Amino acid sequence: MIIKPKVRGFICTNAHPQGCAANVQEQIDFIKAKGPIAGAPKNVLVIGCSTGYGLASRITAAFGAGANTLGLCFEKPPTEKRTASAGYYNTTAFMEKASAEGLYCETLNGDAFSDEMKDKTIARLKEKMPKVDLVVYSLASPRRQDPKSGELYSSVLKPIGKSYTARNLNTDTLKIADVSFDPATEEEIAQTVKVMGGEDWEMWIDALKGADVLSEGCNTVAYTYLGEKITWPIYGHATIGKAKEDLDRASKAISESLAGLKGQANVSVLKAVVTQSSSAIPIMPLYLGCMFKVMKEEGTHEDCIDQLYRLFTEGLYTDTPRLDADNRFRVDELELRAETQAKIEALWGEVTEENLFDITDFKGYQANFLKLFGFGVDGVDYEADFSPIVDTEFL
Ligand code: NAD
Repeated sequence: MIIKPKVRGFICTNAHPQGCAANVQEQIDFIKAKGPIAGAPKNVLVIGCSTGYGLASRITAAFGAGANTLGLCFEKPPTEKRTASAGYYNTTAFMEKASAEGLYCETLNGDAFSDEMKDKTIARLKEKMPKVDLVVYSLASPRRQDPKSGELYSSVLKPIGKSYTARNLNTDTLKIADVSFDPATEEEIAQTVKVMGGEDWEMWIDALKGADVLSEGCNTVAYTYLGEKITWPIYGHATIGKAKEDLDRASKAISESLAGLKGQANVSVLKAVVTQSSSAIPIMPLYLGCMFKVMKEEGTHEDCIDQLYRLFTEGLYTDTPRLDADNRFRVDELELRAETQAKIEALWGEVTEENLFDITDFKGYQANFLKLFGFGVDGVDYEADFSPIVDTEFL
């Protein structure tokens, strides 16, 4: 099959196996070039391991610390006629490359919110891995089924308190128009917190601790984005921001529950990057186009893997971590510098459909978006006939 991107709005419905494998290799090469990470964990569970920040976490642990990794994801396998999802190809590539270096790795594909996946994970850990010293919680999902009640919750991206109108770029038509969002109802806020808040993170740690598969001194991290003025109305101060505040509550509760093990939980604040989840957030593509322009010019541009390397070396595994007043690791400081935000805001005010490609780096955004699905990657022959089927070790 000759595989060309099929983009519909903010998603691409197919993926290229060789392109995805090349992206994984690029991240592995980056981490290896940095050299071993002192004090880093040896047995790592990554919940949400197949794309974006979770994949970068797994690569950093495996190739920066030689860690055994068990990963969980929710990805679509290929058929003879359809490609797999990008996360599926990323994961098979990761597993092939990690196994080739003698690193133990295994991946479970299924709903991480369910009790069944928690039980399955614990059984695998007991059978195959020493006790876990790092649990990365990196799920991003629009829905969650409560494992106890069976109720299905959906998250929404809406402002809180008052409606909000912003300039939005339609990534298909490249038209910029004002879009308005009504404020969320209390019910919508509560549902978003159920999906993207800390409840499931707590359930995971309770289950893992109860099964005695966490080591003494075990760390756990969950990821958040805080952002600044431009993104606050739809992110930081909006429904998703409320869910992320709940992570702060959960991190305190988890730290208390891990005290006996001398373990701790921290929320980690990461910068805005292009991922399948962030590209679905209104205004984000335009914000990212402006941000890329400014940060590339400043020489401070970073992608997931740069952020994860810094989270390990400047947050998790150093004696002098950059923590804020809420005990969160901070690696978003370059994006949030006042000078950087002022330049992004200036571009935000000036950008039009006519000057989009001149004054912002929207071209860079588009390239990064396609790359998530393995397209536009150097060295891959996109005219060649590839089978969508890949060998897999998924359980
Ligand atoms: P992503 O969409 O790239 O990754 C989501 C991961 O979750 C994938 O591995 C996917 O398979 C997995 N997943 C989703 N639903 C699942 C389920 N039910 N069961 C098992 N696995 C499931 O997203 P991302 O942008 O890397 O986000 C990861 C975390 O980082 C989120 O908490 C997000 O809020 C946070 N974050 C993202 C950004 C950003 O700009 N993208 C910035 C800061 C923080």
